[in-house]
Amino acid sequence: MNNKVNILGVNVDMVTIDEAADRIIGFFDEDKLHKVYTPNSEIIMNAYKDEEFCALLNDAELLTADGIGVVYASKILGKPISERAAGYDIACQVLDRIKDTDHSVYLFGSKPGVAEMAREKLIEKYPGLRVAGTHNGYFKPEDEPAIVEEINATGADLLFVCLGAPKQEQWLARNADRLKVRVAMGIGGSLDVFAGTAERAPEFYCKHGLEWFYRLKKEPWRAKRMLALPKFGMTVLINGRRYKQED
Ligand code: UDP
Repeated sequence: MNNKVNILGVNVDMVTIDEAADRIIGFFDEDKLHKVYTPNSEIIMNAYKDEEFCALLNDAELLTADGIGVVYASKILGKPISERAAGYDIACQVLDRIKDTDHSVYLFGSKPGVAEMAREKLIEKYPGLRVAGTHNGYFKPEDEPAIVEEINATGADLLFVCLGAPKQEQWLARNADRLKVRVAMGIGGSLDVFAGTAERAPEFYCKHGLEWFYRLKKEPWRAKRMLALPKFGMTVLINGRRYKQED
């Protein structure tokens, strides 16, 4: 049930989108904070080079494979993950399941105005969904306690933290003890996609593991960051087996 594959030190759960959503729904029944992160190959490469960040990722209750590179890495290491479980897709599943219930979601992150637009779009897409509140992702460190208080005051039990990696994971690590939500998901640019200010790659690209290629075409300035993908593949091939896999 809790099968994980150790990819360069990061213990990724071998779950599908559906299974990840099932686990998250189960987390609502436990009276504590559960952190959910969705590392892609770039994030795992950063963790490989930064022990502290690696520990911070492994502290999550659920870590899913966001990106075809991570899925391939799991295959190379002999513990195949059956599909890419991107944060955006898991978030959609969870929202669909909690609409028409007492659960409510707080949207935190992205540029001013985006979370509010995402709220509108989400309520249209998931009628009956309760969006407890929103806050943009550009703030001063001294504002953090007030933001946490605001999130707690809304009574939300689900929190989307969309500050990009590693900011969102670091923010959650710093504020975990004070947060009252039961599930906090670090899901990068998802609010932009919900709001419609950023596009997701068309289905064809996602299905064939070519989302990176679509993003490269659309956002060529990401090319340097994308070199992380082949580097990641090589590093997994060369060093991946040094990491102990649990049975
Ligand atoms: N962001 C933010 N605060 C910051 C930096 C970034 O809210 O200080 C937001 C940014 O507006 C974007 C998201 O974080 O909505 C990161 O998106 P990106 O696609 O770069 O991250 P990824 O999903 O690749 O981690």
